Amino acid sequence: MLQQEIRVRFAPSPTGPFHIGGARSALFNWLLAKKYNGKFVMRIEDTDLERSTKESEENINEALGWLGITWDEGPDVGGPYGPYRQTERLDTYSKYTEQLLTEGKAYYCYCSEDEIEAERQEQQDKGETPRYSGRCRHLTEKDKEQFIAEGRKPTVRFHVIENKQIVFKDMVRDTVSFDSNGVGDFVIVKSDGIPVYNYAVVVDDALMHITHVIRAEEHLSNTPRQVVLYEALGFTTPEFGHISLILAKDRSKMSKRHGATSVDQYRKLGYMPEAIVNYLALLGWSPVGEQEFFSLNELIEQFSMDRVAKSPAVFDIDKLNYISAQYIRKASPEVVAELALPHLKEAGYIGDEISIAQKTWLVEVVGELREYISHGAEIVNHIEIFFNDDIEFENEEAAEILRDVDVPQVMASFRDKLQALEVVDAPAVKALLKNITKELKLGGKKVFMPLRVVLTGKMHGPDLDKIISLIGRERTLARLTDTLVKI
Ligand code: GLU
Repeated sequence: MLQQEIRVRFAPSPTGPFHIGGARSALFNWLLAKKYNGKFVMRIEDTDLERSTKESEENINEALGWLGITWDEGPDVGGPYGPYRQTERLDTYSKYTEQLLTEGKAYYCYCSEDEIEAERQEQQDKGETPRYSGRCRHLTEKDKEQFIAEGRKPTVRFHVIENKQIVFKDMVRDTVSFDSNGVGDFVIVKSDGIPVYNYAVVVDDALMHITHVIRAEEHLSNTPRQVVLYEALGFTTPEFGHISLILAKDRSKMSKRHGATSVDQYRKLGYMPEAIVNYLALLGWSPVGEQEFFSLNELIEQFSMDRVAKSPAVFDIDKLNYISAQYIRKASPEVVAELALPHLKEAGYIGDEISIAQKTWLVEVVGELREYISHGAEIVNHIEIFFNDDIEFENEEAAEILRDVDVPQVMASFRDKLQALEVVDAPAVKALLKNITKELKLGGKKVFMPLRVVLTGKMHGPDLDKIISLIGRERTLARLTDTLVKI
């Protein structure tokens, strides 16, 4: 494997949202390229003219850029084997189609869709596996002329040799073999002259000198068609690696009803790209030891195809959130604030424009809440204590804390001391709280708990000195007065 330069590719069809499964395929290819100092090629497979959009292509580019997956060759950066967009390579495919036709390895097929459908139905009724009968294989020149005169536009079909085993090596599945009789002659160029995926992919992978094709398991059944094309065109077959499906926790295919499925959705939910990459790497690949957290460099070092599992990977949002939470905790408050800001706006906590002072304050607030969230969107579940001065008790137990006999003197002392404080910052408040415990000879809990409840309505949360310094003297005193009335 190390003799030749490793060249891998990611070849998305830009036809819709960029699924996390696609990102995982890109990541595995990219890791392999990086590990062996090879090249990672980006190729846009846009031969489905109706469904391919520029928007989707841009979305893929952006998502990969966000994840930190960059390519050495591609439509935007160019490279020695371009163009890297299939619709710009039609002449190249035509050249090989001519070759296959001349060598008798492919033929024009004039069957209409209705005729093919009727044939398929007939075979099915007889309990046979449907496949094209090959009836256009032996057309005379006269037959062809007649079809053309009828206005029929031919497809080009590849002639699959019968009674053969099509065998290929798969890095994940070892040796895979298919019976050629189950494949049947298949269309390689549609009647509008556009090549189909199975054909274009072979020409491109060969001409782009791709050594390893790592892609989703759903393409496993396409591979025999591709292998026979490699052989017919005299190209060297690359090594394949079909990585398992990603299933939802209920073991059904991941779909919208299981939550976010596209990279963009996770980005918008305020996940960090590092966390997504870390999690995606573990979807199908397992490291040697128990390590769960990986930087990109560690992944590059440790990744190997022989530790990629055959069995389906299960997308577990709780695991993702667990991993993501660690990244959020370690990130700077500024970074987390950026992830949280859109959600604070959406929830109406802040307006579209915020002042520098407000931003500075928010960064500090978010810094205190980092440990409670796994991604930016979750900030709205915790931030209320910093915005809402109309305190409600989270439960009766919390309210009960304020009925303790020591509460009045704790509150009085706190009020006096806070009023007298010169600068209300966290260290000063911390000292102040300590003084109360000393002066009143009360345990910390007797002082901290009622103050926490009176100021937030809750029994747990960020450090009290931080909360007080962040909401400031005036709002703290106002909350004190207003909440105590509610008891
Ligand atoms: N365009 C194909 C897809 O998006 C690529 C499959 C492959 O990697 O060969 O599924």
